[in-house]
Amino acid sequence: MTELDVAQEFAYAPAPESRALVRIRDEYGLFIGGEFVEGTGEPFATVDPATEERLATVATASAADVDRAVQAARAAHNRVWGPMPGAERAKYLFRLARILQERARELAVLESIDNGKPIRESRDVDVPLAAAHFFYHAGWADKLGYAGLGADPKPLGVAGQVIPWNFPLLMLSWKIAPALACGNTVVLKPAETTPLTALLFAEICQQADLPAGVVNIVTGAGDTGRSLISHPDVDKVAFTGSTEVGRSIAQTVAGTSKKVTLELGGKAANIVFADSPVDQAVEGIVNGIFFNQGHVCCAGSRLLVEESVHDEVIERLQQRMGTLRVGDPLDKNTDIGAINSAEQLAKIRRLSAVGEAEGAQRWSPACQLPERGYFFAPTLFTGVSQAHRIAREEIFGPVLSVLTFRTPDEAVAKANNTPYGLSAGVWTEKGSRILWMAARLKAGVVWANTFNRFDPASPFGGYKESGYGREGGRHGLAGYLRPSPGGASPAGAGVRA
Ligand code: NAD
Repeated sequence: MTELDVAQEFAYAPAPESRALVRIRDEYGLFIGGEFVEGTGEPFATVDPATEERLATVATASAADVDRAVQAARAAHNRVWGPMPGAERAKYLFRLARILQERARELAVLESIDNGKPIRESRDVDVPLAAAHFFYHAGWADKLGYAGLGADPKPLGVAGQVIPWNFPLLMLSWKIAPALACGNTVVLKPAETTPLTALLFAEICQQADLPAGVVNIVTGAGDTGRSLISHPDVDKVAFTGSTEVGRSIAQTVAGTSKKVTLELGGKAANIVFADSPVDQAVEGIVNGIFFNQGHVCCAGSRLLVEESVHDEVIERLQQRMGTLRVGDPLDKNTDIGAINSAEQLAKIRRLSAVGEAEGAQRWSPACQLPERGYFFAPTLFTGVSQAHRIAREEIFGPVLSVLTFRTPDEAVAKANNTPYGLSAGVWTEKGSRILWMAARLKAGVVWANTFNRFDPASPFGGYKESGYGREGGRHGLAGYLRPSPGGASPAGAGVRA
């Protein structure tokens, strides 16, 4: 009997969440001015990455549709949302937060179907955090005079927001909640492979009686995003996605009066010292890279392990990886779901082949992947050097590259040897070493003895090619407000015109 046979013999019975909780329409339009309307671009299909089946046909917003959406947002800003007292805006945000909670199961199932992420994560992480962002920002709406931006900071106007596919509903809430709390109206474009929860959120806006035009959702691919960020009547551009697209957006808005926040890619170091509690560190390593199939901008995709404990850590990590269950995203036992798209799967395969060709040792546990759908086994590369492409490029999949170090200085030098600077993790029992490391790591977030922790009160954002500006917390408000005279941006808010 092989190891795989034994695992299958004693496997958990499937525990699938019900698909009947959601009603997916055959066709979806754009959400403009409080109503669903037809788009004038070529419609596209969104597919279930676990089965490769078409889920729905979704409208593409042309430049003219985007213009209609921006006009609706401008009118809502001038007539209703801008003049509305913060305490009144807060009521709408609280209402949206409560409805997100009430419809949490439906949202979680829809997210897992459209994105491929395990239901355990959409249910326990994505949807609760999305609601938490609305609750948190509802609390700020009538207290903006205490945000460190002067006594009476003002909204910017209309925000054009473009988001990626890895946390569709959560990224939507990171964008919409602070914008609305600060008195802005928004036009948001979800990613073309995951539009469905944004369109369900549009229904939630109707359910909450949000004034028409305050939130507009335009679907489509890169061209729709380009029309939105380059629209002359958009005052603020907020983008989360790849560094490549972020760079072109920065060029497009340069020389205009638009404010910009860019949340881009990452190649985070997760640094394990010899004195760390190894079992906890192994859990942190697994969470750092295999959470959400590794489709995480701040994923701990480079493991830096102190040379003296390398073999022990790798052995325990391999044992733990052998227990990860890859498969149906709607099964409550699943740890690793489907890769979001055929393109992303091809990219992960391509870069993994490069890792092997460059001489790193590749290892995956015995695991049977479903016959249909886009799946990739959790993968470990040891013997990786700084020069390897798998140590430098963002793979955005369940692939971990392992490097070693001997001294804290070497760990810092290797961790910072990347064009990115979004996050880092440090595992050690010494508090003084955590502080020493945190002061030297060039990363927007440094986790200590944990990884991938998020809270709406905690600002998030990067250095270098990971972007600029912060989302979340008091710092995140600065990206959506014009300070009143005498008001300064909170330190580190990093918002540029
Ligand atoms: P992507 O840049 O290809 O696409 C992101 C969004 O931009 C999509 O909605 C897409 O349609 C749109 N877009 C594409 N071209 C555009 C253009 N020229 N102008 C305007 N919009 C355009 O990225 P992706 O593949 O969807 O997402 C993965 C990337 O996102 C990774 O690099 C990841 O690190 C990053 N990410 C960063 C954060 C963060 O907070 N820093 C969070 C999540 C994801």
